[in-house]
Amino acid sequence: MTRFGRRSLLMSPFGLGFVPPALAADPDVAVIGAGVAGLAAARALMAAGKSVQVIEARERIGGRAFTDGTTFGFPFDHGAQWIEAGKINPAMAIVREASARAILDRSEQALYLAGKELSKDDYARFEKIAQEATRRIAEALKQQPDVAVGRLLAAQDPLERLAFAMVGPLEQGVENGELSARDFTRQPEPEPQYAIAGGLGAMIQRWGARVPVRFGARVVRVDSTGAQIAIETTAGQMRARTAIVTLPSGVLATGKIGFAPQLSAAKREVIAQLPMASYNKVALLFSRQVIDAPAGRNVTALTRKEQAFDAVVRPTGREAALVFVGGAHARALEEEGGRAAVTFAVSALAEIYGDGLRGAVAKSHATQWGRDPYATGAWSVARPGHADKRAVLAQPHHDRVFFAGEATDPVWATRVGGAYASGLRAAKEVLAVLGASSRR
Ligand SMILES: Cc1cc2nc3c(=O)[nH]c(=O)nc-3n(C[C@H](O)[C@H](O)[C@H](O)COP(=O)(O)OP(=O)(O)OC[C@H]3O[C@@H](n4cnc5c(N)ncnc54)[C@H](O)[C@@H]3O)c2cc1C
Repeated sequence: MTRFGRRSLLMSPFGLGFVPPALAADPDVAVIGAGVAGLAAARALMAAGKSVQVIEARERIGGRAFTDGTTFGFPFDHGAQWIEAGKINPAMAIVREASARAILDRSEQALYLAGKELSKDDYARFEKIAQEATRRIAEALKQQPDVAVGRLLAAQDPLERLAFAMVGPLEQGVENGELSARDFTRQPEPEPQYAIAGGLGAMIQRWGARVPVRFGARVVRVDSTGAQIAIETTAGQMRARTAIVTLPSGVLATGKIGFAPQLSAAKREVIAQLPMASYNKVALLFSRQVIDAPAGRNVTALTRKEQAFDAVVRPTGREAALVFVGGAHARALEEEGGRAAVTFAVSALAEIYGDGLRGAVAKSHATQWGRDPYATGAWSVARPGHADKRAVLAQPHHDRVFFAGEATDPVWATRVGGAYASGLRAAKEVLAVLGASSRR
């Protein structure tokens, strides 16, 4: 029986006594988490005729894909924003299914050191540094199963520091010393890269809108010792024949979700070896034109204090900017809290575009994914030596509890494409178990 208590009845538009399909009693499948993985699994299972109940701690779907479409006058994706490797990324299926418009990102990347754009010679040298770094990582992986990228890339000067910051901190959300070379090279080349008209998070909202979700219910225990799976949440208990857990690896690592029987030692070990990356964004809206640059220009820079950041300036032609920080720097800004990230973003842009922008900030917002208890960080990163173990996290627990989420995908981990592919994979596994014995 589904027992989500008074709240679900009070929220029901149908009044007392009617149980809408969204709260179907004892569904075939309980999906824990309404991010891309949970929504993909739920959609596939519903299409196969199974009854599904998604359980979500937040008051919205999308998880780490969320668009603020109102504050800035342009869609601000707090989390996932781009679909990389668009020719082969499984996430392009969502674009088609949601009838969304993918916009090819054609902007060139401008590189800056201490407020000045690189000279032609430095651009050429930067290319060589990047090629040499790629070669060194590939060579090292021929000799050994894995190695921390930081052991291969030791920067000698600011240009190398900028180039190497674009490997770990700005791309993966971790310092190179914590980055598995194997996990890094597993990832497909990012080009071509697409943004989504209206925002990627907004697309996920539309795409998942028909999935039955119980909001505001944080799962605290999954018990598969009985004939049915008992799922305990902060909003009551429910039972289901099977369950799919799609929680971020960092949330699983908090130990706040109990499993009976306990997860295997191998699974617990893998969860500990897939910590969350630190990566955040700052959106700034200016009251007047303060940035002299073409619309949508991509900037990557090392400040005078040698702090690396990425930025998109004048997104969709607005007098605004998005600043991105990653790795230890992102974590430190988050820990400092308050307006630390906004202050950094303004100063960093002022080095390039002039102090005039300091007094022109009309609105700002900094994400804090590490402080979000339902995310605990940006995406999963394998510790060096543990890249191949994502598959262990993907394995079922006690036959009827399945695992999905970006962290479980062998190729597209960290990305929306990984979340989507993992959701479809888990749905197939569930269907194989429910098979012909399903009630429908
Ligand atoms: C700043 C940032 C930028 C990014 N940029 C990109 C990008 O450009 N391109 C890209 O492909 N990817 C990007 N990503 C990664 C992408 O957002 C994720 O890989 C993807 O959204 C993960 O989906 P998921 O379903 O696996 O997990 P989630 O989206 O985290 O879904 C898990 C769900 O579980 C819920 N939950 C958590 N705990 C509980 C609980 N105890 N009980 C019930 N529910 C719970 C959460 O609220 C959440 O809704 C970015 C992420 C961040 C943070």
